[in-house]
Amino acid sequence: MGTVIPLAAGVDYADLHFVGHPGIIATALIHGVDGVAIVDPGPATALPVLEEALKTRGFGWRDVRAILLTHIHLDHAGATGSILALAPQATVHVHERGAAHLIDPSKLLASASRLYQADMERLWGDVLPVPAAHVRILGDSDHLTIAGHAIHAAWTPGHAWHHVSYFLPASGIAFVGDTAGICRPSGRLIIPPTPPPDIDLDAWRSSTETILAWNPETLFLTHFGPAPAPRVHFQALWQQLDSWSLKVRASLARQDLEDHERSQQFVDDVMADIARETSSEEAQSYARAGRFDFSWTGLARYWRKQQHP
Ligand SMILES: [Zn+2]
Repeated sequence: MGTVIPLAAGVDYADLHFVGHPGIIATALIHGVDGVAIVDPGPATALPVLEEALKTRGFGWRDVRAILLTHIHLDHAGATGSILALAPQATVHVHERGAAHLIDPSKLLASASRLYQADMERLWGDVLPVPAAHVRILGDSDHLTIAGHAIHAAWTPGHAWHHVSYFLPASGIAFVGDTAGICRPSGRLIIPPTPPPDIDLDAWRSSTETILAWNPETLFLTHFGPAPAPRVHFQALWQQLDSWSLKVRASLARQDLEDHERSQQFVDDVMADIARETSSEEAQSYARAGRFDFSWTGLARYWRKQQHP
């Protein structure tokens, strides 16, 4: 637990061992002489692991200068308010469309509760409000300097409407949150997380171009870790997104099914596809990083809107 893996000079990442499982949530630490920035700190349930990771590099909460959020979903940002209570000097960077829901998380919690229901506490723990004075709002493109690192930020909607990605030109690493999908360390299978309510495939395509325009050498995925060959990686992601869209649209065309049956069929189908290419344990692990029933709902919502805007 608490293993810190080097990525580049002054850049490491930690496996948060999300609810006891390795290889699900990766948090990056960007550091220099004057402190550390945390990219997507994860949920509060993983705070002890994150604290251990900081300690491994000689940092405590007091050294945290910034939290860089790709988006506010709880698996990426749930711990932010709790960290601010421990690191009152830190600034939280978030896109302007997500900021209000960090400051007052009630709507975010209500929508997450609809999805996760009785599992909220076990998965995410506390979700505390972030004091407005500590929120630094990002626009569609920003240049930051944090802990001695030049960092570019760009709006990359598609998975979430307020999603941003960060790029470190010095090391060629793009921190892309969920925009480049889920890719477990075991294999190179790339699976898109497409939960409701924001999925927008057209925006996602433009965001892919935005990220590739940085010409990154490495993509850093929250689920999970560094991925080489960004162009090939995104090609594989889009193949999968196109194939999922076909499955979802075929299920929507079936008049004899209810939504819960369409969703179940999609889940069974996707689990079988992944198990065939990896193993059934791996299929379970992919599902842990991005539930397939939620992905059906997110894509179904998108395709229904395309038909009846
Ligand atoms: Zn995620």
